[in-house]
Amino acid sequence: MQLCELSLQGFRNYEKMEFTAQPGVNLIVGDNAQGKTNLLEAIVYLGSGRSFRTQKSSELVRFGADFADISGKIHSQERIQTLRAVIFPAARPRQLYRNGVKKKSASDLSGVLNTVLFCPEDLMVLKTGAAARRKLGDCAMCQMRPNYDAALAEYTRLLEQKNRILKDRFENPALLEILPEYNQRLCQVGALIISYRARFYESLGKAASAYHGQFSGGAEEFSLHYHTVSTIKDPMADVGVLTENLREHMQAHARAELESGSCLTGPHRDDFDVRLDGLSVKQFGSQGQTRTAAISLKLAQRELMRRELGEEPVLLLDDVLSELDPGRQDFVLNQITSGQVFITCCEIGRFTKLGQTIQIRKGQIVSTDSACI
Ligand code: ATP
Ligand code: MG
Repeated sequence: MQLCELSLQGFRNYEKMEFTAQPGVNLIVGDNAQGKTNLLEAIVYLGSGRSFRTQKSSELVRFGADFADISGKIHSQERIQTLRAVIFPAARPRQLYRNGVKKKSASDLSGVLNTVLFCPEDLMVLKTGAAARRKLGDCAMCQMRPNYDAALAEYTRLLEQKNRILKDRFENPALLEILPEYNQRLCQVGALIISYRARFYESLGKAASAYHGQFSGGAEEFSLHYHTVSTIKDPMADVGVLTENLREHMQAHARAELESGSCLTGPHRDDFDVRLDGLSVKQFGSQGQTRTAAISLKLAQRELMRRELGEEPVLLLDDVLSELDPGRQDFVLNQITSGQVFITCCEIGRFTKLGQTIQIRKGQIVSTDSACI
């Protein structure tokens, strides 16, 4: 999988820009706030229809511009394909195109341009809140499984609607009549999500454990544990069983939900934790252990995507290498000998031996230089 050409118009701080990418390493250099992360954001959006920085797509449109246009030529599934996203600043819905054909939803883009993003915040993913860990898993699963993507989108929509019902029911008690319908569908879709997650986390844990073993010279045993709703004893069980388990939990919390006016039960509160030799990284991990485990998780995510899709996803390293000590830097670089990679960094001259350098200033390419590898 390879991004061959990218063109941006009215996206973030880019007025108009295009470039041809190399199959191997593309190094994006520039001072702070020049548009390096914006460029990676455009690549992720092109492939997934999602931004990793904002939920509000209007923020992606350059201030004062009428629209943002991201277009790219990609070599994947053994042919050249095109993707295009046009985003508007106001309420007008965005437009997504795959090979020139307008598509309804982001899940229709699946399989053309898959990406794995790795940024400095990811290094602390095992210490921070559960939302960041859910995002890590969801981001990979949505790209690998269009059905998971669709289920998650439906679940999020239902959850918002249920929360609104729970809040508005004080003013409008008649709303409670439609609540059972929402609950039933939430249990069905929620069960599907849990079933996908259980399988994904099992594979992710195994692959990450192998990387961590290599990294730590086999000194520590890495294990990943998925946590979901407490009535679920076996998340690998049949979806029908999971649906029942969810219903049970929901019923037990029905009163509390009405009192609190918010939805308290379901996989939107899922989490996972990593243990090293049985000790939770979140509670006991040292800085180094936390970072190493996070790197192992990211490399594992890339490996699962490669295995699942049959192609190497495009790797995006946003400022992460400069955050790492030389030993960890080497470990990451040694693992990315294949596939296409975009690496952002501030200092020109650093890592330049790796591949093409694209220098960016104020949303414009000021120079491109293809160094020999
Ligand atoms: P750093 O090295 O600090 O991470 P960076 O090169 O990655 O910097 P970006 O995050 O890509 O920087 O770009 C940030 C710049 O883009 C900011 O100066 C911000 O004001 C500008 N920007 C963000 N959104 C828009 C927008 N919609 N329109 C115009 N400019 C924008
Ligand atoms: Mg940045």
